[in-house]
Amino acid sequence: MFSRFAGGVHPREDKDTSGAAIEVMAAPKKVYVPFSQHTGKPAKPCIKKGDEVKIGMKIGEPDGLISAAVHASISGKVVDIVDHPHPVIGLSLCCVIEGDGTEDWVSNLQSDLNIEGLSKRQLLDAITQAGIVGLGGAAFPSHVKLSPPKGKDIDTLIINGCECEPILTADHRLMMEQSEAVIEGAKIFQKILGAASLIFGIEDNKNDAIQLFRNRGVRVLQLKTKYPQGAEKQLIKAILKREVPRGGLPMDVGCVVHNVGTCQAAFMAVKFRKPLIDRIVTVAGDGVRENKNVLVRIGTPVRDVIDFCGGYTGKPKKIVSGGPMMGIAQYADDVPVIKGTSGILVWNEITTVDPGSCVRCASCVDACPMGLMPTEIYGLVSNKKFDMAKEYGVLDCIECGCCAYVCPSAIPLVHYFKYGKNEVWRMSKK
Ligand code: SF4
Ligand code: SF4
Repeated sequence: MFSRFAGGVHPREDKDTSGAAIEVMAAPKKVYVPFSQHTGKPAKPCIKKGDEVKIGMKIGEPDGLISAAVHASISGKVVDIVDHPHPVIGLSLCCVIEGDGTEDWVSNLQSDLNIEGLSKRQLLDAITQAGIVGLGGAAFPSHVKLSPPKGKDIDTLIINGCECEPILTADHRLMMEQSEAVIEGAKIFQKILGAASLIFGIEDNKNDAIQLFRNRGVRVLQLKTKYPQGAEKQLIKAILKREVPRGGLPMDVGCVVHNVGTCQAAFMAVKFRKPLIDRIVTVAGDGVRENKNVLVRIGTPVRDVIDFCGGYTGKPKKIVSGGPMMGIAQYADDVPVIKGTSGILVWNEITTVDPGSCVRCASCVDACPMGLMPTEIYGLVSNKKFDMAKEYGVLDCIECGCCAYVCPSAIPLVHYFKYGKNEVWRMSKK
């Protein structure tokens, strides 16, 4: 069993939906599809108000090197292109589509292609056209990750099946229900990258998935359940014992990491020319009547998904998009599900503690999987010493939340680090 990264925490797993088969939610009446759903520049709208669209039609073109295409997730009419609440960045330009009640796709989709003879370029092109991004949360455009610059040879492709965030089980269900598509997608990535090795990393709380994938003939490493086992650098360290240098990328140590959901989406893009128009979301918490895993169209308002799950059980105190460790609290339930939405968590009961002063216990230092000194960075950021915070590695913070989780003074450390990173970036742009 492998777990060789330092730090990390063991929160309660609470993966109560791990046996809940994926349910398909019907197309909602209206979707709000943001042009910004990925790391990098937002897509450029290529439709206008009043246009008729069909499922899978491109509505946003990638803009620049790091960007991704965006597609209509329902068939209907574009009724607006307007700023709308966004679960990650607060507000984003969205294409508002009112459904026409049909399930009409753009032509040339849903054909079962023979993909054996496709070249690397053709495979990559299909993935780019489909707007595939990392579905583990970061939503980095996949075609960029699959195009390492000259001189960066990739020997190992790691497929991340850890799903180390508590509560979330969407990846687990996907592995159990669509293992073939996940494996075929991984093989497509391997072919594009020319990587000699393909390794799946799965935590030992998903032994059924480990067994299933081994039975299908792929190499699986059983990883110790520990948060954040699924973070790229920690996964590489645990599996290959390689250290990604500070400020560096996995490709600097000869590997690339993709999530299992991304593999499945890429397979669908290559085999059926299906753009990324839906994703699996875990819906859980005491504030929602039925906890389940749901296949949801991109752009569906969170409130519609909650209705699909039987509605609220009371007046929610907290709604989170994502997992309990890295997810983002929402101020409204009209935010849409986007490509990176792995979970929707609703709580009626939450304990809030007023933050106290730092007692210099160093628990955060022990917990940090990046080897940072959160207590020092917190002091520097709160005193607006951003240059020094940069020297102390604030940009290396992966915002995993381990430090805040263990902090006895309940200091919202990640909040400070996000703020510090933004200030450092702002200063460097100047
Ligand atoms: S949030 Fe940042 S500083 Fe805190 S434990 Fe994670 S990587 Fe370390
Ligand atoms: S865990 Fe909290 S109280 Fe302890 S050193 Fe870190 S910031 Fe200070």
